Formats: sequence, C-alpha cells, structure tokens
Amino acid sequence: MKSVEHRTVIIVGAGPGGSAAAQRLAEAGVDVLMLERRHIVGNPAQCGECIPNWGEVVGTFLHLNDHEWLKSYFDFPERLRLHRLDNMRVFLPSGKSYEFELDAFSGHRLQFDGYLADKAVRAGAELRVNTALKRLQTQTKAGRELLVTSGGRFSCDVLIDASGSLAHVARLRHGQDRAVRPEDQVPTIYAQVKGEVPETFDVFLGSVAPSGYAWIIPKGPGFANVGLGVRAGKLKGDLKGHLEQFCKDLNLEILSIGGGWIPMGGPVKRMVDGNTLAVGDAAGLVMPSNGGGISQAIISGCFAAETVIDHLEHGTPLSEYERRVRASMGPALKNSLRTKNMGYAFMRGDLMTEAILRILGPIGGIKRAMECDRPLWLI
Ligand SMILES: Cc1cc2nc3c(=O)[nH]c(=O)nc-3n(C[C@H](O)[C@H](O)[C@H](O)COP(=O)(O)OP(=O)(O)OC[C@H]3O[C@@H](n4cnc5c(N)ncnc54)[C@H](O)[C@@H]3O)c2cc1C
Repeated sequence: MKSVEHRTVIIVGAGPGGSAAAQRLAEAGVDVLMLERRHIVGNPAQCGECIPNWGEVVGTFLHLNDHEWLKSYFDFPERLRLHRLDNMRVFLPSGKSYEFELDAFSGHRLQFDGYLADKAVRAGAELRVNTALKRLQTQTKAGRELLVTSGGRFSCDVLIDASGSLAHVARLRHGQDRAVRPEDQVPTIYAQVKGEVPETFDVFLGSVAPSGYAWIIPKGPGFANVGLGVRAGKLKGDLKGHLEQFCKDLNLEILSIGGGWIPMGGPVKRMVDGNTLAVGDAAGLVMPSNGGGISQAIISGCFAAETVIDHLEHGTPLSEYERRVRASMGPALKNSLRTKNMGYAFMRGDLMTEAILRILGPIGGIKRAMECDRPLWLI
C-alpha cells in the first residue's frame, strides 16, 4: 500500500484564490498544503494583467469596508505596480470612444502570483509545485476520498478547489454537472507587445471581437498586454491570427503570446460540495461583462479560509462560505451577467453595436456595464 498523507486543509491551485486562502488559514495556525501543478507558480501567465486596487474592489462589492485583512492584502507593494490604470477608454466600431475613471494598475502576473504564493508560504502554508491533482478515489470502507496526484496520495478534512476556470475537483467528481462547473468558457488570447502604446486601458468593441472585446493594457513606456476574448465560435479562423492582425494594424510588435479560458457564465449553482469549497474561477466568480476575476478570487479565497477556521473552531457549517460570497459579490456578478447577456443578444454586427453604444455612451451606460452596475435599461 502506498502511503497516504493526511492534512487538515488541502488547496488545489496556487493562483490568487489559492494563495489568499492559504495565507489566511496559515496565519490562524491551520495546517494547510497547496498543491500546484506548475513548476513555477504563475508561469505561464494567462492574463490581461489589470489588477484592481482596493478602492475599485470596495466600490464594486458589498460588506468589505470593514474587512481589515482584505484591505491590507490589496495593499500591493510598489515593485508590482508597473503602470497606473487611472482611465479606461471604450472604442466603438467607428473609432469614437468614451472615457471614464478606473482604480487599477498593470503588473506582471508571473511576479504577482509568485508574490502572493510567497506570502502564504511565509505565513506557514506549505506549497508543493509540480504536483497535479489527477484523480479522486473514494475509499468506501475507510469513509474517505483520496486525492491522487503526480506527487503522491493525500486525504484532508477540508478541500479548497482553487484550480481555476476548468474547476478540476468538480470535473473529477461530477464530470460535466452544470451545478458545480463554471459555464460559458470564453477562449481568450493575449500578447506581450512593444511599440507606441496608450496611457489608458483601451477596450475595443465590435467585429474586432464579436460577443467579446479586444484590449490594450499598457505596462510601461513602450510595452503593453494586448488581447482578444471572443465567445466560442463567433470569429472565423484561429484567434491567434486575429490577434496578430490586430497588433499589426496598431503597429505593435509581438514578443510572446499566451491564452486561456475565462468562465463568463456567472457563479456556479453550488460552491460547497460536501467538504469542498470552490473559490475564484473554479466557482465561476469572474465578471461576465469584463472578464476580470483576480479580486473575486482573492476575496472568495479569504472567505473560504475564514469559514474553514470557524468550522474547525466552532462547527460553523461550510455552507456559510457560499452565503458570504453571494451576499458580497452576488449583486455585481448578477448585473454583470445581465449586461453580458444583453450584449450577446443585441450587439450583433458593427452597425447595431455602434448604434446601441452611441445611445448608452453619453448617459453613462458603458461605464455602468464595465463597472458591473445594473444596466441602465433595467432601471
Ligand atoms: C487571457 C486572460 C486574461 C485575463 N485578464 C484579466 C485581467 O486583466 N484582470 C483580471 O482581474 N482578471 C483577468 N483574467 C481572469 C483571471 O486571470 C482569473 O479570474 C484569476 O486568475 C482567477 O484566479 P484563481 O486563483 O481562481 O485561478 P487561477 O489563477 O487560474 O489559478 C489556478 C491554479 O490552479 C492550478 N491548477 C489547475 N489544475 C490543477 C491541478 N489539477 N492540480 C494542481 N494545480 C492545478 C493552475 O496551474 C493555476 O496555478 C484573465 C483571464 C485570462 C484567461
């Protein structure tokens, strides 16, 4: 018999959600192990690399004003801040744009994720890289579930699924069950580029990215992250070719290319499954109207850890985690999902997109959509 290592809490995935949960748990003295399939945390990066500041976070979600731990967690050091993103411009198909304020910065996701994981380890969490969860195995007699990984077999009292958009724990346990797996996975591709880049976070809507958007996020003088997220099947040909053409049109030289899936279907129906809590992308917590998910991953990771601490100390049910997530992030995510669905339904072709945005732009509708406020047409 191969040995089984038992831990109090195991976290699958060392992205922002996993690292925030691990740090919060370790600081409370809970035994916690993070399993990460990558060799280097955060590598390869899969991101536009726009990271929100605390001001943006408390302005979007509820019940966070007095949360001192999260407030200080979002106080990221200057060395991670490559470029201030104080403004966003949204471009219509005609080239006309609307501009509004933003409270964010751009960074290198590789550095950012590494910094968060380091903090968790310094707080006392254990991190094992190169260790991928492969299978879940039920041992009926022993009444436990084993995590079979590329680095050995484990069991735990509580499992946190922080494995990102493809929600590996839910997939291994329930296959395609829509109650626990994030939906509407949008293929997204990005490039690190050099050339003449704007000062602002620029978003482009219309046929350049049908049912999605293209972006330029400046990362400092002469450098930017340029990307394209398009609903599956909406753009003929391969996404990489479209991104290359987009960069060529802007006279930007591509240095490297990456990509990933963004779950745009809103929160999963069930975030707690027995002893397992899904956080971040694995729980479908990305903003469907803008694809941002870093802050929700951190907040949900923190809420998951706090619920586990209460569970271990006072027997609080793990379902409390889902209640807190929905109370804080539910309204913004719901608005964002409505906006995305409206976009899918009405913004078909450049003419329609231009017409709708020309009506919404001057009355603040585009800003509301990007900030996940209730869409204007529902007020
Ligand atoms: C191209 C792109 C651009 C984006 N741009 C932005 C942006 O600019 N701003 C923003 O806020 N959000 C953006 N997002 C979304 C953001 O990246 C995610 O919402 C965020 O990373 C979610 O964090 P997480 O911790 O839940 O998951 P992840 O960051 O995805 O971390 C999951 C971790 O789990 C590991 N893992 C997966 N499976 C296993 C396994 N079986 N065993 C062990 N480890 C495993 C992975 O290697 C990974 O390290 C973008 C996403 C994409 C794809």
